[in-house]
Amino acid sequence: MQNDLIVALGLASLEKGWVWLVGAGPGDPGLITALGLQALNQADVILYDALVDERLLTLSTAEKIYAGKRAGVRSCKQDEISQTLVALAKDGRRVLRLKGGDPFVFGRGGEEAQALARAGVPFRIVPGVTAGIGGLAYAGIPVTHRDTNHAVTFITGHGADGKLTQMDWAAVSRGAPTLVLYMARKFAGEIAQALLAAGRSPDQPAAIVANAARADQQVIVTTLGGLEGAAQNAPSLAIIVIGENVKLAEELNWLAKTAP
Ligand code: SAH
Repeated sequence: MQNDLIVALGLASLEKGWVWLVGAGPGDPGLITALGLQALNQADVILYDALVDERLLTLSTAEKIYAGKRAGVRSCKQDEISQTLVALAKDGRRVLRLKGGDPFVFGRGGEEAQALARAGVPFRIVPGVTAGIGGLAYAGIPVTHRDTNHAVTFITGHGADGKLTQMDWAAVSRGAPTLVLYMARKFAGEIAQALLAAGRSPDQPAAIVANAARADQQVIVTTLGGLEGAAQNAPSLAIIVIGENVKLAEELNWLAKTAP
C-alpha cells in the first residue's frame, strides 16, 4: 500500500547522506503528509521533538533520538541538535528530523537548515500543518473568513530570552483584524492589556485552543477582556486567537459535534 502510494505519487526518496526536515502536524497523526510518511519509511535515524505523536514513531524501525524539551528545560541545545544532524548525514545515514507542526513556523527549522546548508549537507524541507492554522481548523475556526478578516498576523508570545516578545503592539493591533499567538499563554494578560490600550474592544471574541488536534483538545471561547483569566486555567500547550473569526466556532465546531 505504501509502495503503491509512493509510485503513484512519484514521491522523492530520502537518500543516504540527506536530512529531511519534516513537519508532523499539530497532533492528530493523520495530519502528516505523504512525504512525511515516506521519510518515516525510509529513514535510518530519526531526531524527534516532544510535540511529535508517539504513534508516528512506532511506524518506523529507525533508530530514534529524542531532541526536545522536557518540563520546559532544554534537554538538548539547539547547536547540539544541528551538529548531530550534520554528523549523522556525513556518516551516510538517511536522517529524518521530525518536528511538531510546520518546521519553518516558530520551530527553529530555519536554524537547522542553515547549519546543514553551511556544512554542505543536502536537505529537503517537508512542510507540515501548523498549529496556528490546522489547530484552529480542529476547533472550527477558519483562520481567515471573508466576513470577518482578510488578513491574519502570526506572532510568538515570547522570544529567545523567555520574556514577552518586544514589539509595537499598537501597530500589531492595527495590522490585521485577527491575531494568532503561539507560545503566548503565559503572557496572555500582558498581550491583552497592550491590545486594549491600542483600542481593541474588550468584547472582541478570543479563543484558546489547547492540545489542538489531540484527543484531549479543549476550546475555550472568551473575549479579549476575559482572556487573562481564561488563560490562567488553560493547559499549557495552547494557541490563542483574537478576532471576529472566532465567532464561527459556534457553528463550525465539527469535532465536538461528531465525537462519540
Ligand atoms: N512548529 C510548530 C510550532 C512550535 S512553537 C507549529 O508549526 O505548529 C510551540 C507552540 O506551538 C506552542 O507553545 C503552542 O503555542 C503551539 N502549538 C503547537 N502544537 C500545538 C497544539 N497541538 N495545540 C495547541 N498549540 C500548539
